[in-house]
Amino acid sequence: MREISECPVCGLGRFTMLFPNSYDGTPGQAAAFFLTDREKAVHGRIVRCDGCGFVLTSPQYEYEEYEQIYREVARIETPPGRGHAVAARYRRLASHVRKRVSTGRFFDFGCGDGQFLDIMTGFDCVGLELRSTAQEIQKSADGRIIVGELHAAMAAKLLTPASFDFVTMWDVIEHLPRLAGDIAALRSLLKPGGWLFLSAPNVASIAARVSGERWNCYLLEHLWYFSPETLKAFMERQGFARGEVCPFLFPADMATLASRIEQTYGVRLPVPRAMQSWTLPLPAGVMFGAFRRVP
Ligand SMILES: [Zn+2]
Repeated sequence: MREISECPVCGLGRFTMLFPNSYDGTPGQAAAFFLTDREKAVHGRIVRCDGCGFVLTSPQYEYEEYEQIYREVARIETPPGRGHAVAARYRRLASHVRKRVSTGRFFDFGCGDGQFLDIMTGFDCVGLELRSTAQEIQKSADGRIIVGELHAAMAAKLLTPASFDFVTMWDVIEHLPRLAGDIAALRSLLKPGGWLFLSAPNVASIAARVSGERWNCYLLEHLWYFSPETLKAFMERQGFARGEVCPFLFPADMATLASRIEQTYGVRLPVPRAMQSWTLPLPAGVMFGAFRRVP
């Protein structure tokens, strides 16, 4: 385990504990508690920076341990039936992006199977599905999706510096063990003045404040808990203009919602079969951010 000794937002090294860790297993047992199909919602030790108020997990596992956990999670199969909510979420994110850009070339960091690339018609795009450094870099048959690790893909010249008009990262930033290094790498891929669009949990949201420790985003895989203010300050430090942040209503289907409630509260709500794929945009405490690279 690695204690975070320096705040990534303000550089100070003093933290106050908000919540003690609710998981004390080994990294080897952690995969069962990661991502959507986790057995139970658990989190690491959560602290707040005394300088700027940034909330984060500390200590964190080593980078290689997170890689190993994500490799294992990828082997656990995802049940079908979440398609509607996922598609609704991407459509909503796309409309936020299209308000700011109408043409150009973009890079989707953490693109999964490429659904977001699919709906962004009229744009030239490439995505990266995150895989560990230990595996070789691959490219999909149509050349649109790179499978591998960001820095390795850049070293292999599959991604060219200053070649993108914008970068997207949907619910990715809170997972990155190498936060500052990855954002610096993404910045280098942008043309001067290019946009970085992201979504992330908002620790200052009403959902987070009302739920306290039971907020559904306090999770073992989440390492950084930004608020609009700490996100803007962090991005400014990384060479972006101060940017703008707005709430993002997170579309969720009833089956996933019931499963989240069970993971957090241990109560199983019966959801009639006919209602399981109903999708509602929920104020779950997620934010959308838009930041421009300072030349
Ligand atoms: Zn700080």
